[in-house]
Amino acid sequence: MSIIVDNVTKIYGNQKALNNVSFEVGKPEVVGFLGPNGAGKSTMMKILTTYLTASDGKASVNGNDISINAKAVQRSVGYLPEHNPLYLDMYVREYLSFNAKIYNVSKARIEEVIELTGLIPEANKTIEQLSKGYRQRVGLANALLHNPDVLILDEPTTGLDPNQLVDIRNLIKSIGEEKTVFLSTHIMQEVEAMCDRVIIINKGEIVADKTLKALREGQEQIVVVEFDFRVEDAFLKKLPKVVDVINTHDFVYEITFSIEEDMRSYVFDFAQDNDLKILRLNQKNASLESLFRELTS
Ligand code: ADP
Ligand code: MG
Repeated sequence: MSIIVDNVTKIYGNQKALNNVSFEVGKPEVVGFLGPNGAGKSTMMKILTTYLTASDGKASVNGNDISINAKAVQRSVGYLPEHNPLYLDMYVREYLSFNAKIYNVSKARIEEVIELTGLIPEANKTIEQLSKGYRQRVGLANALLHNPDVLILDEPTTGLDPNQLVDIRNLIKSIGEEKTVFLSTHIMQEVEAMCDRVIIINKGEIVADKTLKALREGQEQIVVVEFDFRVEDAFLKKLPKVVDVINTHDFVYEITFSIEEDMRSYVFDFAQDNDLKILRLNQKNASLESLFRELTS
């Protein structure tokens, strides 16, 4: 196991931010650490990267105990902090070279991470000139410099626009094919897009630990459909295996089916038979969404 957390508790003053947290992460694996704001995600990540010490409990990263062998932990971990501190007036390559010296990383490796993170066209710009998405790439490049086995990424996709999101997600997924990636997010869709497994934390306690595969094989699915006009909920309930219909906004409906099979083609045929125009049709993972809502509400 790349990360082992055993009954970790963290108390700030008189506030318990983590309460007997235990979980494991293997390699290669991309695990999402999902929870609402204030759940304790950043605290857990700071403890694993040895920036904070736990009040109680044990943890190890890459076989090294965090309280006994902090240096070895730091060597095996690449960390992207939540508020990624970058020196805005430095050039991208200069910034990476500056950090490379700290880790004793070769010039060739700097060029390698610049290529890996798609930063070649930006390498001679200052960090200030970069968009938020590209700044995140610089943060990722920095985390990858010393070629660590374990990546700990604190909300790596927060604040990115949809195009940047797709790029960063793909990058993280490809990194996760070989390494251990432990990433936090408060957005459920991020987990669905990138992760093999989800660990849900709420108010400092682990409330679920499940593979996405198991969740996908659940017995329910949601189809999101947007029509060009209002449709009565009762009418949509005529579709087979419908459990629930919610008109989320405007002409958008979330239809829950009690079946594993992809129901999109049924919805499509149903719309055509009834002269309804579909503007959008998506399938959503019902179980993760309802699980998250149920466990964190
Ligand atoms: P998350 O990353 O899931 O949003 P955090 O780990 O940042 O959550 O915070 C967990 C809880 O601990 C929150 O209630 C937060 O206010 C509190 N907290 C975090 N850092 C500190 C600190 N340095 N001192 C006191 N309380 C803190
Ligand atoms: Mg946080």
